[in-house]
Amino acid sequence: MSYIQFLGAAGVVTGSKHLVNTANDESGTGGFQLLIDCGMFQGQKEWRERNWKDTPIPAHEIDAVVLSHYHADHVADLGCLQYAARIDMDLGRRKNPLKVFGHGESPGFSKLSYLEFASGEIYGRESILRIGPFSLGFSPTIHPDPCYAMRVSCGGASLVYTGDTGPTPSLADFARGTELLICETSLYDEYKGRIPGHMSAGEAGLLAREAGVGMLLATHLPHFGEHNVLLEQAGAAFGGRTDLASRNWTLEL
Ligand SMILES: [Zn+2]
Ligand SMILES: [Zn+2]
Repeated sequence: MSYIQFLGAAGVVTGSKHLVNTANDESGTGGFQLLIDCGMFQGQKEWRERNWKDTPIPAHEIDAVVLSHYHADHVADLGCLQYAARIDMDLGRRKNPLKVFGHGESPGFSKLSYLEFASGEIYGRESILRIGPFSLGFSPTIHPDPCYAMRVSCGGASLVYTGDTGPTPSLADFARGTELLICETSLYDEYKGRIPGHMSAGEAGLLAREAGVGMLLATHLPHFGEHNVLLEQAGAAFGGRTDLASRNWTLEL
């Protein structure tokens, strides 16, 4: 695995969209591009306007999308990407249909496929998916709508993305020893437990510590407050390298 790049859910709770790429340079050319979640920015105008910003990778270079669940902040841009696949196939810029993976426990799975331009496939808790050079495993989370954390491995490196979740001991086992934990951090510690199915900064840090991960990256951040406080709270609970996801944040694995 070469690097992971954030296209959304950076500085905000909405717009979860993380790109994992095997290219050895940030132009992304030549690598396999796996998009984890495909959310849309919502809320205040300054966030919504980000929906119209160019992504660093052209849509036709995205090979596959894997979805944690079907809430709009994780899936609302999928229709746009599927339609882009249609245009790109018509124009000869894309050879193969976009591959889209999601669980089958919510009605949203019916939208994974789009004519011959996007081919949907369902995963479950026992699934091991091979997507290009990546291997993916899944673990159910604690969330009002069925949601799965995923472990993405490639070439001896791995990362875990929690999707949306409240605290659950199973995630520490699932993320054990991974190099990077991308953890939802929806709440400042003073709001801990106020929104079921989401985690506070301290809870994210505790998960990272229990799992013994190499690095914690806080994502799915609140719309308000001072995010450096989140960084302090998560870092103190983890006791290891911690950072906040930001647009175009990248890491080589
Ligand atoms: Zn959700
Ligand atoms: Zn969410």
